[in-house]
Amino acid sequence: MRVLVVEDETRLARALQRGLQAEGFAVDLAHDGVTGLDRARTGGYDAVLLDIMLPGLSGYRVVQALRAEQNWVPILLLSAKDGEYDQADGLDVGADDYLTKPFSYVVLLARLRALLRRGAPSRPSVLAAGDLRLDPATRRVTRADTEIALTAREFALLEYLLRRAGDVVGKSELLEHVWETFEATEANVVEVYLGYLRRKIDAPFGRAALTTVRGAGYRLEADGG
Ligand code: CA
Repeated sequence: MRVLVVEDETRLARALQRGLQAEGFAVDLAHDGVTGLDRARTGGYDAVLLDIMLPGLSGYRVVQALRAEQNWVPILLLSAKDGEYDQADGLDVGADDYLTKPFSYVVLLARLRALLRRGAPSRPSVLAAGDLRLDPATRRVTRADTEIALTAREFALLEYLLRRAGDVVGKSELLEHVWETFEATEANVVEVYLGYLRRKIDAPFGRAALTTVRGAGYRLEADGG
């Protein structure tokens, strides 16, 4: 099994390399995001351990670039506890799992083995409601073939609503699935983001696909409005 470790903390990278080699893995190292992406593209790895805070290109960008190229190598993100990023965002962009530093080597090995057993995920299929389409693989959203630019959170919200298209989805369910429950979220954050979405997926197209069902929640019309 070949593993690529992308980690700019040299001591940690070498320790991981030694540890994994002792377990029989072939291990390559990269110390910045650009080199990491290059190697991951061409190296034929069975898994990638990827730090988030990297010089050159963040781990998130590396994951996004690989997934946009239909590269489904299993990726385990390594995130600093005080990092400015949200771990859930790492999964949003297409990583398979994450570990928070400092982590136990035993846990890392267990997660890595679990990833390798699972193998590369299959390409997720395109979600659609009428002419509104979202491709989880390429992170593209279109309405009537017009591309719509969404932030990571807007994308996650729309993806969830599309998976439940036609159903009424409660606010707490959205908070739970799109925002982490441990995040200090403002009570109206769901409305705020639904407003952003409406301005992008509905208003410019003269649609009203995203509706509020009073007292119950929200619904994305299955026919696309
Ligand atoms: Ca780092």
